[in-house]
Amino acid sequence: MRAHQARKRFGQNFLVDLGVIEAIVRAIGPAREDRMIEIGPGLGALTAPLLDKLSSLTVIELDRDLASRLRQRFSETRLPIVQADVLNVDFSQFGDNLRIVGNLPYNISSPLLFTLVEYADQITDQHFMLQREVVDRMVAAPGSGDYSRLSVMLQYRYAIEKVFDVAPEAFDPAPRVTSSIVRMMPLPDTRVRAIDESLFAAVVLRAFSQRRKMLRGVLGAWTALIPWETLQIEPTWRAEQVSVPKFIAMADALHAAAVRA
Ligand code: SAM
Repeated sequence: MRAHQARKRFGQNFLVDLGVIEAIVRAIGPAREDRMIEIGPGLGALTAPLLDKLSSLTVIELDRDLASRLRQRFSETRLPIVQADVLNVDFSQFGDNLRIVGNLPYNISSPLLFTLVEYADQITDQHFMLQREVVDRMVAAPGSGDYSRLSVMLQYRYAIEKVFDVAPEAFDPAPRVTSSIVRMMPLPDTRVRAIDESLFAAVVLRAFSQRRKMLRGVLGAWTALIPWETLQIEPTWRAEQVSVPKFIAMADALHAAAVRA
């Protein structure tokens, strides 16, 4: 078969370091009957060793050539292939207890993470390779420079941990930046939730819209409706100082004041 020419527009950086591939598979820990979905299988660097440990593995690949290569290499029953843009895939068709994995195309990582939040109830865990800088933002604690809207929105829904970093040399072609493996586990039903989750999202969005500005400056008319002292938040804080529970408390207070998203 002809060598595949990596397509930049599809974010194709293929894993070639066998030690790294093995470490990723070990971090995922596949068990025979897991219902696993791999996003962007590419040339199958992770697909093949994962499939060794699974009964079947569903993959979602946008590149038609790569999908047809995989079709030739693996049987349809063990490796069902969805040839599509993952951002348009309806994950409800796959049932529940899903384990989602992937060395993701970096250009769609944020929209994909936000898309998957919609399906979090059906998902057991997610393991992704992402740019290290994105993973640092996902796991950042309040007060750190990396703490951002992405940190708050994802930590609201998942327990997130960085597993390890992966150097550019582990890929062909090598990306310009270091990558990291991240593990995300949806929080249980008992998690603390905002009464109005759209309002929570709106408050977080507005608070981080100008992250150098104080909350009282950036929240506009909402500032007067927040019982700052009761919530133990200072109106002079910046968004990066506000923890997830405090963002929830702010959204709930605004909801009580009849604000709607
Ligand atoms: N898993 C392989 C590996 O580790 O070597 C390939 C990883 S490569 C970084 C990303 C893969 O995602 C490519 O195979 C690319 O074609 C695919 N891809 C890019 N955009 C996609 C999209 N929107 N939906 C599904 N797959 C996509």
